Amino acid sequence: MHEMGLADAMMKTARRIVKDEGDVVVQSITVELGDLSGVVPRFLTECWEAVSDGTEFEDTELILHTVPATANCMDCGHTFVVSVDDLRCPQCRSDKLKPLSGQDMTITEIQVADREDE
Ligand SMILES: [Zn+2]
Repeated sequence: MHEMGLADAMMKTARRIVKDEGDVVVQSITVELGDLSGVVPRFLTECWEAVSDGTEFEDTELILHTVPATANCMDCGHTFVVSVDDLRCPQCRSDKLKPLSGQDMTITEIQVADREDE
């Protein structure tokens, strides 16, 4: 399942982003998940726990927000929110759609805190 690769890539991205922050603990990572990204949030959470285990992200909470996907109908020009269960234009029932958004997975926020010395 490709969620494992995504979780791994996400950890590398987060690591790169916080590298310049100094000695910090990453508390949470917020990710926007498009409805058409093909990513199953539950799997991604499980994979995140697996890849972050034993790393500095072990206690990092993964917060997932799903965002609706939009598409443009190539036959009638209608722009609409796509339902994953019905990949057709609601206006003319065409299946020639151009995806506009909702296919991506984006890290939108990384919450960090200063590491507390014991
Ligand atoms: Zn249409």
